[in-house]
Amino acid sequence: MSNFTKESILSVHHWTDNLFSFTTTRNPSFCFRSGEFTMIGRKVDEKPLLRAYSLASAHYEDRLEFFSIKAPDGLLTSRLQHLKEGDEIIVSRKATGALVIDNLEDGRNLYLIGTGTGLAPFLSVIKDPETYLRFENVVLLHGCRRVAELAYGEMITEKLPSDELVGDFVRYQLIYYPTVTRDRFRNRGRITDLIVSGKLFTDIELPELEPQHDRIMICGSPGLVRDARELLVAKGFVEGDHGEPAQFVFEKEFAERKSLSSSRKRGHEP
Ligand SMILES: Cc1cc2nc3c(=O)[nH]c(=O)nc-3n(C[C@H](O)[C@H](O)[C@H](O)COP(=O)(O)OP(=O)(O)OC[C@H]3O[C@@H](n4cnc5c(N)ncnc54)[C@H](O)[C@@H]3O)c2cc1C
Repeated sequence: MSNFTKESILSVHHWTDNLFSFTTTRNPSFCFRSGEFTMIGRKVDEKPLLRAYSLASAHYEDRLEFFSIKAPDGLLTSRLQHLKEGDEIIVSRKATGALVIDNLEDGRNLYLIGTGTGLAPFLSVIKDPETYLRFENVVLLHGCRRVAELAYGEMITEKLPSDELVGDFVRYQLIYYPTVTRDRFRNRGRITDLIVSGKLFTDIELPELEPQHDRIMICGSPGLVRDARELLVAKGFVEGDHGEPAQFVFEKEFAERKSLSSSRKRGHEP
């Protein structure tokens, strides 16, 4: 049996010139936990070209959803961005990853910190009833450069609160905090700066982070992961290592380009 299945594209949505989402059919045998990633790709010259992608759909949905960057000159995304309904992609039969609530100790508040497409695994986590049974408050932080890049905002604020399965949980327990660095918006600034200044906690009316009650998942650019990790370690949080449940876990979504200035020019770092 092959390690991969072929799935058909069911829908494609372009958010901006460099962000899009798509849904695919789901092989009934494919299982994953909320927050995990899998390998997806296309055949190029008869060879599979694969990349890691977080599953943005809930583990109980009958279709798979992915939220993708269009990396300039990116080997796979230069192809994926032209996907249309009925096209096929390859999806691994296995899913894995650090961003699952089983990797966290019990706590009161769960913080989900994502930049750019780092939101993807948390879309799955916030649709899982188990998340709300484990934590009293679930705080979803999404940092981008531009307001237009705050994908899924409407789904989170308009659709999810009336969802049959998780609507009640979402209305009472989910706090959504989008923030941008380059446009005028109600929340402005980098997530780590908002944590350090304490503005985040004033805005969401929760106490500042402390290891006894707070659990944290981080996903996004190497810069976000580095800064958030440093900040948490300095506050005494214990980092997860895929073994014992800990107080915070993270996933780097991609490697930094060699030249940071060219990366900035291309619009990668929020
Ligand atoms: C665990 C894990 C989960 C991931 N989940 C996702 C996901 O849900 N959605 C997604 O779009 N990507 C995700 N990625 C990144 C993804 O694997 C690819 O890097 C991305 O699709 C670009 O592939 P490419 O072949 O087009 O470009 P590549 O040639 O592989 O990369 C070119 C450059 O693009 C930049 N880049 C790559 N991915 C991103 C990104 N997501 N945001 C900003 N800049 C980026 C990097 O600087 C990279 O060096 C994930 C990576 C990991 C390790």
